[in-house]
Amino acid sequence: MNDPGFVLWFTGLSGSGKTTIAVELEKVLLERDLRVQRLDGDIVRKTFTRDLGFSVDDRNLNIERITFVTTLLAKHGVATLVSFISPFIAARETARKEANGENAPFIEVFVNASVEECARRDVKGLYEKAFAGIIKDFTGVSHPYEAPPNPQIICNTEDETVEESIKIIIAYLEKEKLIPNSS
Ligand code: ADP
Repeated sequence: MNDPGFVLWFTGLSGSGKTTIAVELEKVLLERDLRVQRLDGDIVRKTFTRDLGFSVDDRNLNIERITFVTTLLAKHGVATLVSFISPFIAARETARKEANGENAPFIEVFVNASVEECARRDVKGLYEKAFAGIIKDFTGVSHPYEAPPNPQIICNTEDETVEESIKIIIAYLEKEKLIPNSS
């Protein structure tokens, strides 16, 4: 049987930097010959969970399905990088329990940037629409976001560069012996 992998779960507001960091981290882990799978909210919502909307129930179901997949991947030794807003503590804690139930560590990464900063970046033009009321139920504007009270890692993307965030995450993974040291 394979050793389990791990789940690195990026949570944060839209535009906080989850995808940007996960994409760069994936490259670093692949260079170290790890088996890596990245699951990104924007892509998954257009495919696997395209039937779901943004009500509380649908958001929970979205994360429930992703949790099922991430647990399977981690169980089979894959370094699984998950970037979803995943606004609710309870859903993330369920994801943690399921991974841990397969002996796979679950590392919650809080990608932290204020609503104001995310709106200033407005990468996808969504905040403008949310503030104008054109998009309803938008996390951080008209729908709640429950920040992790006790994340394993915090990336403060207003103060750190992407490279600095990656270094922090790699250092954590090495310290926890989830990946081999680089040298
Ligand atoms: P999310 O996946 O959280 O919705 P994205 O990664 O798509 O967010 O977008 C984040 C935006 O913020 C990108 O345009 C990125 O270049 C920018 N950005 C600025 N500083 C950082 C940082 N330190 N870490 C990550 N992204 C950053």
